Amino acid sequence: MTSLPLVFDAPRRALPPRHLADLDPSQRREVAGELGLPAFRIDQLARQYFGRFTADIDAMTDLPAAAREMLRTLLPALVTPVLEQECDGGATRKTLWKGHDGTRAESVLMGYPDRATVCVSSQAGCGMACPFCATGQGGLERNLSTAEIVEQVRQAAAAARDGALGGGPARLSNVVFMGMGEPLANYKRVVAAVRRITSPAPDGLGISARGVTVSTVGLVPAIDKLTAEGLPVTLAVSLHTPDDELRDTLVPVNNRWKVDEVLDAARRYAMATGRRVSIEYALIRDVNDHSWRADLLGKKLAQRIGKHRVHVNLIPLNPTPGSEWDASPRPVQDEFVRRVQAAGVACTVRDTRGREIAAACGQLAASQS
Ligand code: SAH
Repeated sequence: MTSLPLVFDAPRRALPPRHLADLDPSQRREVAGELGLPAFRIDQLARQYFGRFTADIDAMTDLPAAAREMLRTLLPALVTPVLEQECDGGATRKTLWKGHDGTRAESVLMGYPDRATVCVSSQAGCGMACPFCATGQGGLERNLSTAEIVEQVRQAAAAARDGALGGGPARLSNVVFMGMGEPLANYKRVVAAVRRITSPAPDGLGISARGVTVSTVGLVPAIDKLTAEGLPVTLAVSLHTPDDELRDTLVPVNNRWKVDEVLDAARRYAMATGRRVSIEYALIRDVNDHSWRADLLGKKLAQRIGKHRVHVNLIPLNPTPGSEWDASPRPVQDEFVRRVQAAGVACTVRDTRGREIAAACGQLAASQS
C-alpha cells in the first residue's frame, strides 16, 4: 500500500470563531444561557438567519438593542466574497470568497427553469490529489467549519431570492457538495452542515434532504457512517473508471479502498436510504473513455449496486490549465453512454455550466493564487 495523502487530518489551522450556524438547537439554548438571554431571543435570531437568510444584526429590529449587542458575537463575518463572475446570461454565478484567516474557497450558484442549485466547498483545498482536478493539485489547506459551509448556502439562498439569477426571485432547492474539498474527510462538520441546511427554520434553512448531494472519492468507512445517519441525501461517488489499475492513479485513495469495496458501500447506502446513488465519471480522452471500460462499468454497477439503484453522471472533462488531458470527442462520449445504458444502467451527460468562468473544481481559486 502506498502512503496516503492527508485523509482524515487537516493541518492544524485555526477554525473560525463560533457562529450561530455551528450550533444545533440544544447548543443554541446553552449559548443563550451563557449570554444571559432567554432561549426565545436566540430563536428569534435563528428565525431571521435561517428563515429570512439575513445575517445583518442591525436589521433585526424585532430584537431589543441590548439583545442585539449580545447576539452580534454569534454572527461573525465568516465568508466574504472577494470575486464574483457570471456567465450563461447570469444563470451561473461563481463566488470566490475568503475566510477570517484569508483562506480562499469557492461556490457556484446555478439557476434552471425548475430549480436553483448551489455547489459548495467543504474544505479549503483538498488532500485527495486527483491529477485531473485543479483543487487536488494544491493540497489541503484546512477544513471549513460547519458555519462556513452553511454560510455559502445562506448567501446563495438570499441571492437567488433577491433575483441574482435573473428572471425574478428563485428558491434555492438544491445543494451539492461538489466544490473544493472531500466532504467525507471533514465528516462531522459536513454532516452538521447538512442538518442545518435541511432542518426547517428556526433550526435550519429548510431545504429538502432530497435536494442535497454529497459527493465523495469513496472513503468507505465514512460512507458507512453516513449510511447510519439516516439522512436521505443523495450520495455521489466519483468513480471515473471501473478498474483498479487506472483508478489507483486517477483517484489515489483507491490504493486504500478498491473499486468493488466502494461500490459495495454505495449499495449499502442505496439499500438503507432508498436513494439512487450517483456515479460521477469525468470522461478523459484516451484515458478512461474506452468501450471496454463503458461495458465493464455498466456490468459492475448492475451486479454490485443493482441497475435501478444507480445512475451514471458523465462529466466531460474540464481541462485544468497546464494539463495535457482533454475531454473525449462527442462520438466517443455518445458511444460510452450507449454502452452503459445497454447494461440497463441510467446514464446521462452532465450539463457543463460555467466553463468560461473556470467553474470546474478549484479552478477559480487556482487562477487567483
Ligand atoms: N471530493 C469530492 C467532491 C468534489 S469534486 C469528489 O471527488 O467527489 C466534484 C466532482 O467534480 C467530482 O466528481 C470530481 O471528480 C469532478 N471533477 C474535478 N475536477 C474535474 C475536471 N477538471 N473536470 C471534470 N470533473 C472534475
